[in-house]
Amino acid sequence: MDKINIAIDGPAGAGKSTVAKMVAARLSYVYIDTGAMYRALAWRALQSHTDILDEASLTSLLQETEIEMVPGVNGNKVYVNNREVTEDIRSSEVTASVSAVSAHAGVRQKMVTTQQQLASRKGAVLDGRDIGTVVLPDAELKIFLTASVEERARRRHLENVEKGRESELQRILEDIEQRDLKDSTRKESPLKKAHDAVEIDSTNLSSEEVAAKICGLATERIQGL
Ligand code: C5P
Repeated sequence: MDKINIAIDGPAGAGKSTVAKMVAARLSYVYIDTGAMYRALAWRALQSHTDILDEASLTSLLQETEIEMVPGVNGNKVYVNNREVTEDIRSSEVTASVSAVSAHAGVRQKMVTTQQQLASRKGAVLDGRDIGTVVLPDAELKIFLTASVEERARRRHLENVEKGRESELQRILEDIEQRDLKDSTRKESPLKKAHDAVEIDSTNLSSEEVAAKICGLATERIQGL
């Protein structure tokens, strides 16, 4: 059967990665977490004391940073220069720095090229902020996933507690608001809904319900090929 590419964009904590993983598993597609790539670079920048506001330093750091994502039962494992950083890239330090790292044009150009190569054989589900607008403007199915900020913060908090990470609800809510503001007002590829994306508000929907909706839309698109 012919395969399509699926782009899932939206603000922080809308459930993109959970849903993208489910959709990829159901369709036997590959899942590409583009946020993890920016997080991996932010992690490396913090490790190497690189100034995250300095585009030239970050771009050259990216040249010597090999980011690898290995699919597994619980999602992708992320490696930076062969060191596993799957959990480290979710730390509050990385989360607080990643929007500054991802705002640089030089960083984005290289990341986007890599993401396009990863999706070039079709059969990929990518989640991020600019997938439908910049990375894969020709994706056969584009979803813009939203939820109220309170619900997004609540979910992120629960996820942290489940995974044994330190977590404080009010702080998460503020972090999410800050990150959304930075991601949607930056000059380079800001977070925005592609004109041909289907918007899904997941505030009152379970991940399973959202994944089922997306799989239904994907089936329609595949049949229409
Ligand atoms: O999806 P996640 O919350 O892990 O993304 C982390 C950060 O990476 C975002 O806040 C955003 O700054 C950046 N990002 C981006 N473009 C993407 C994916 C993520 O700018 N396609």
